[in-house]
Amino acid sequence: MRDLAGLNALVTGGASGIGAAVAAELLRRGARVAVLDLDTRGAPDGTLALAADVTSDADVRDAVAAAVGEFGALHTVVSNAGIGAVGTVEDNGDDEWRRVLDVNVLGMVRTARHALPHLRRAAADRPGAVSVTHTCSIAATAGLPRRALYSASKGAVLSLTLAMAADHVREGIRVNCVNPGTADTPWVGRLLDRADDPVAERAALEARQPMGRLVSAAEVAAAVAYLASPAAAAVTGTALAVDGGMQGLRLRPA
Ligand code: NAD
Repeated sequence: MRDLAGLNALVTGGASGIGAAVAAELLRRGARVAVLDLDTRGAPDGTLALAADVTSDADVRDAVAAAVGEFGALHTVVSNAGIGAVGTVEDNGDDEWRRVLDVNVLGMVRTARHALPHLRRAAADRPGAVSVTHTCSIAATAGLPRRALYSASKGAVLSLTLAMAADHVREGIRVNCVNPGTADTPWVGRLLDRADDPVAERAALEARQPMGRLVSAAEVAAAVAYLASPAAAAVTGTALAVDGGMQGLRLRPA
């Protein structure tokens, strides 16, 4: 399927996990793809790798300009770079809150700010095919224990998605988010590695999922590619959960 042929995309955090899977899927479906990441070594072959930090406005500005310089136009933005935080409000201090919100929320704001003028121009040429997709999380609305800071950051991403969708709907720019559940990425691997018995911890984590398994990065990427595609021309201001039923199902023991 080459439904994204002729589209040029920028994926932040595109050198690992969900972002790398998104970059690979957009490429496979015919888009040209630039990857913005702190460490670009994992950027999929065939992408334009741009080393940049989403906490730096100048870095984001320069990376967007480099992508547009290379491709000539920008139709698709996937704002995915994000970091985690574990704890209650008593566990994380102000500096930690600022650090995580700077990446998870302001990173997406900066990316949008620099991309929007280009997206506006592209929308005139490709009606229905110009979009921003944020990687949010079920944490935005789930009330997860010991994830106060992370959940608040993703709650802000959800609100940002809806507000941007409203602001830009008449400009032909669609804005959506995906809400992954627990996705099998290096991030989750790092969390499991901290456990005394990572193998047992992984088995317990899988057993807690409604499907009895984690979501794969490729499954999240397929949802992002749909939201970026012309098939989603009427889809804006929506949060698409790819969570193995975590959010929607209320499973009880039989
Ligand atoms: P990951 O750690 O595998 O990848 C994150 C990527 O973002 C890395 O390549 C990293 O270098 C990059 N990055 C981090 N800070 C950056 C910065 N300041 N500037 C530029 N790049 C930066 O993690 P992942 O699991 O693929 O997570 C990707 C997104 O998915 C995040 O927004 C995360 O909140 C979200 N998410 C993940 C899960 C999960 O279970 N893995 C669940 C829900 C949501």
